[in-house]
Amino acid sequence: MRTQVGIVGAGPAGLTLAQLLHRQGIESVVLENRSREYVEHRVRAGVLEQGTVDLLVEAGIGERLQREGLVHHGIGIQFDGERHRIPLSELTDGRTIVVYGQTEVVRDLVRARLAEGLPLLFEVADVRVHDLDTDRPGIRFTHDGAEHALACDVVAGCDGYHGVCRPSIPAGVISEFSREYPFGWLGILADVAPSNDEVVYAHNERGFALLSMRSLELSRLYVQCRPDEDLAEWPDDRIWEELQLRLGLEGWTLHEGPVLERGVTGMRSYVAEPMRYGRLFLAGDAAHIVPPTGAKGLNLAIHDVRVLAEAIVAWYRTGSTTLLDAYSDACLRRVWRAEHFSWWMTSMLHRLEHDDDFGLKLQLSQLRYVTSSHAAAVSLAENYVGLERV
Ligand SMILES: Cc1cc2nc3c(=O)[nH]c(=O)nc-3n(C[C@H](O)[C@H](O)[C@H](O)COP(=O)(O)OP(=O)(O)OC[C@H]3O[C@@H](n4cnc5c(N)ncnc54)[C@H](O)[C@@H]3O)c2cc1C
Repeated sequence: MRTQVGIVGAGPAGLTLAQLLHRQGIESVVLENRSREYVEHRVRAGVLEQGTVDLLVEAGIGERLQREGLVHHGIGIQFDGERHRIPLSELTDGRTIVVYGQTEVVRDLVRARLAEGLPLLFEVADVRVHDLDTDRPGIRFTHDGAEHALACDVVAGCDGYHGVCRPSIPAGVISEFSREYPFGWLGILADVAPSNDEVVYAHNERGFALLSMRSLELSRLYVQCRPDEDLAEWPDDRIWEELQLRLGLEGWTLHEGPVLERGVTGMRSYVAEPMRYGRLFLAGDAAHIVPPTGAKGLNLAIHDVRVLAEAIVAWYRTGSTTLLDAYSDACLRRVWRAEHFSWWMTSMLHRLEHDDDFGLKLQLSQLRYVTSSHAAAVSLAENYVGLERV
C-alpha cells in the first residue's frame, strides 16, 4: 500500500487532518486501533473555541455542528456562595464558544470520510512507524489478521498521549516538560436538562465542581476527586449529593437525573518538544496534554492539524519545506499559552490538598479579582474563547 500521508489515530486530530488534506486533493490513510463504535462513544471534551468551529465549517463538516451546537456568550464563576458571570462575548469583541460534544465532532468526521469511500481502518493492531528520518517513512500494522505495510511521504502521529508514534522517536531528540496534579475529575453524563444556560466553574472548600452540558437535554458534571478514585465508592446518590454541596446556591436548583456515563480522569500538564522528528509530525495529545479546566485539549489538537495541513499542502504545491520546518515552533507558541492558562485556571479553582489557609486566601483574592476587574476578566475571557494571535 502507498499513500501520501499516513495518519495514526482517528481522534479529532487525525480525522480533521485527513479531512483538510482531502479538501486539498492530498491522499491519506487513517489507522485506528479501536473500533468505530468505541471511538464514536468516547465521552470527552465539549467546548469548542470559535476558531475551531470556523475551521470545521470551512472543512465542510460543520453542518450539524451549526444546527445543534449551543452558542454560549459567557461562563459562570462561583465562590464564597455567589455566582458571577464572565461575559465572554462582551469582553472579546463578540467572540463565542460552542458547546458540542467531541463525540459528535468525531461522528461527523467519520461519517464524512466513509461517505466519500476514503481509507479509514478501525481495529488495526501492532502499529509500528519506521524510517522516520528518511524520505521514505512507513507504517506496518495488522488488520483483519493480515500484516500490511504502508509507504508514505509523511507520517502524522495523531495517536494521543498513549500512542506509539512519540515513543518511536529516538531517545534524546525530544525534551519533555510535565506536571502531575494530586487530584482528578469524577465526571458524569446525566440524562437531565442543564440546570444553568452556561457552564459554571465552582470553587468550594469541599473541592472544585463544574456544571457543563452536551445538549439541551444532557448535562455533563464533574467533581474534583483523588486521581485514583475508586468509582465503586461513588454510587449515583453520593455523586449528586456532592454536586449539590459544591454547586448549590440559594434560590437555584441543581436538577438530578439518571447517570448515563461516569469516569475518573487524572490531571496532567505535558509538552514534548519539538513536535517533529524527520518525516514524523506529532499533533494533538500525542505531543501535549493540558488539564481540562481551561477546555483547551481538543482545540489545541485542531489548531495543530490546521497548521500541519497548510504546511503539507505548501510542500506538495511548491516543494518548499519552510512551513514544515516552522510547524513545531508555530504550534508550541499556542500550546504553551494554553498550558499556562489551563494550569492557572486549575490552580485558582481546585482545593489543593496540602495547601494552608494562605493558599486558600490567594485563590479567593484571585477569584474576586477576575470577577470584579475589567482587565482581569478580559484576560480570562480572551484565553477562554481562544486567542486569535499568540
Ligand atoms: C477522559 C478525558 C476527558 C477530557 N475532557 C476534556 C474536556 O472537558 N475539555 C477539553 O478541551 N479536553 C478534554 N479532554 C482532552 C481532549 O479530549 C483531547 O485533547 C482530544 O481528544 C485530543 O485529540 P487527539 O486526536 O489529539 O487525541 P485522541 O482523542 O486521544 O485520539 C487519539 C486516537 O489514536 C488512537 N490510537 C492510540 N494508539 C494507537 C495506535 N497504536 N494505533 C492506532 N491508533 C491509536 C486512539 O484510540 C484515539 O482514537 C479530555 C480527555 C480525556 C482523556
